[in-house]
Amino acid sequence: MSETNPIRVAVFGAAGRMGTEVCQAVNADASLVLAGAVDLSGGTSIRTDGSLVDVVTHVDDLDPKTIDVAVDFTVADAAHDNLLWCAQNGVHAVVGTTGFTDAQRQLFAETFVTSACLIAANFAISAVLMMRFAEQAAPFFDSVEIIELHHDNKKDAPSGTSIATAQRIADASSTWSPDPTESTVLHGARGGVGPGEIPIHAVRLRGLVAHQEVLFGTTGQSLTIRQDSYDRTSFMPGVVAAIKAIGGRTGVIDGLDSLLFD
Ligand code: NAD
Repeated sequence: MSETNPIRVAVFGAAGRMGTEVCQAVNADASLVLAGAVDLSGGTSIRTDGSLVDVVTHVDDLDPKTIDVAVDFTVADAAHDNLLWCAQNGVHAVVGTTGFTDAQRQLFAETFVTSACLIAANFAISAVLMMRFAEQAAPFFDSVEIIELHHDNKKDAPSGTSIATAQRIADASSTWSPDPTESTVLHGARGGVGPGEIPIHAVRLRGLVAHQEVLFGTTGQSLTIRQDSYDRTSFMPGVVAAIKAIGGRTGVIDGLDSLLFD
């Protein structure tokens, strides 16, 4: 990747809610160029500085030699195939898609050898800080629960951000009070059981975008850390920063933290 030439970016899921924003963010940055677009819907074209980019329906229809970084906002199973294509062709991947299984993550770790794959459950800087603050607070509290709230078209539950947050809290502290519930009157009333057995409650509501609360409790006091993404543009500064920072790296990178704080 040359310092003077723009970084050539392909967007997977280009016709989706997030993919559309990524195409616009790439078009708006002079150091990036939209070099490819993939979406099942195909057909349409995306304008970049007056030129047209055809949206192909399968990643195999792209020439990997014309792509430096691919950005994936699709669904986990599609992203799985897209990311293996990136790994096999030495293309860097910036991944916002959520819902990967542990086996899929393991496969990515084994296959990204000559290029890098950054997987971030949340590209909003406020969400990155929310997770970091939750991790810092964890050792000082006895109870913790997570409530994640999203728009009514979200396909996976709970959110990748909530699972990543629970994992980081669980890694920071393991001394949580046991769940006092003896009788669950309504199935699911205590939410899903996340990493560290931390309860995660998922709300789906028309009008929302992406939001999360982490509730900590201890004797006579509580702490609520809340993060809100009001608009999908909130994710773009993080996506663009990742595209620019990933060159020259190899392997799987978990989350934006290593780019922001290391
Ligand atoms: P969406 O349904 O609007 O868009 C997904 C797009 O992927 C669709 O246009 C669909 O046609 C396309 N697609 C599906 N299978 C494909 C395939 N095999 N090849 C090419 N394209 C394919 O969804 P969205 O709201 O844009 O969210 C996409 C993903 O991003 C979800 O997993 C969501 O959870 C995640 N997300 C992550 C963040 C973050 O910051 N990491 C933020 C918001 C959403």
